Amino acid sequence: MKFYCMTLFPEMVEQAMNTSILKRAMEREVIKLNTYNIRDYTLDRHNKVDDYTYGGGAGMLMQAQPVYDTYQAIKKDAGTTPRVIYVTPQGSQFNQKKAGELAQEDNLVFLCGHYEGIDERVLEEIVTDYISIGDYVLTGGELAALVMMDAVARLVPGVLNNEESFMTESFSDGLLEYPQYSRPEEWMGKRVPEVLLSGHHANIEKWRLEQSKKRTLERRPDLYALKYPQEHKL
Ligand code: SAM
Repeated sequence: MKFYCMTLFPEMVEQAMNTSILKRAMEREVIKLNTYNIRDYTLDRHNKVDDYTYGGGAGMLMQAQPVYDTYQAIKKDAGTTPRVIYVTPQGSQFNQKKAGELAQEDNLVFLCGHYEGIDERVLEEIVTDYISIGDYVLTGGELAALVMMDAVARLVPGVLNNEESFMTESFSDGLLEYPQYSRPEEWMGKRVPEVLLSGHHANIEKWRLEQSKKRTLERRPDLYALKYPQEHKL
């Protein structure tokens, strides 16, 4: 999987990606990150990438030309016409299902806005997907792109050591994950549930499913209703 990130702050994206599991995955070349500084593509002699919005209103807008030329450079480097995600609060909500769908691609471009956003005309030209990380407004798209790249990357085969770990995780089957415990067996007077110490795999699976259902019903009744539309209670 190759990620291409169009941003005014490439160092912010690179620093965050160059950490822990994703760093390891990049060293092993299972994933690759190419950042493109939009400012490098401006034709403005003062290196400007933003200007006032027509019609008035507060704030500056990123101009079409530098964004478009950055995209053209990526297209050339990628040797294909990749999917381009504009991270925006105006997009559809990102979730695990979307992460799984995006993880099937070979190339993904993330476009990070700043200021008041980006001139609509270039978005119409290059963007294939408008995706938001939630109903709140960030100062820039970098954190949103990082959230999406992180969630997508860990679904790419070979990024996690144990591929099973994402098969049982929250959302993977429409339920939240069950509670988990590590050593010691007793901590602050609290014992690990006996069934987990029993070595009885069928009972452990049964307990985990019950706990997943209970937790989803308590914490995310919306998800529970989607998973078990016929049931109203456990
Ligand atoms: N004026 C824009 C609007 O009302 O939709 C918000 C612009 S915001 C201050 C600057 C940039 O941050 C956006 O262009 C977008 O790339 C990014 N951004 C802000 N909130 C986001 C969110 N919830 N999800 C994804 N990207 C977001």
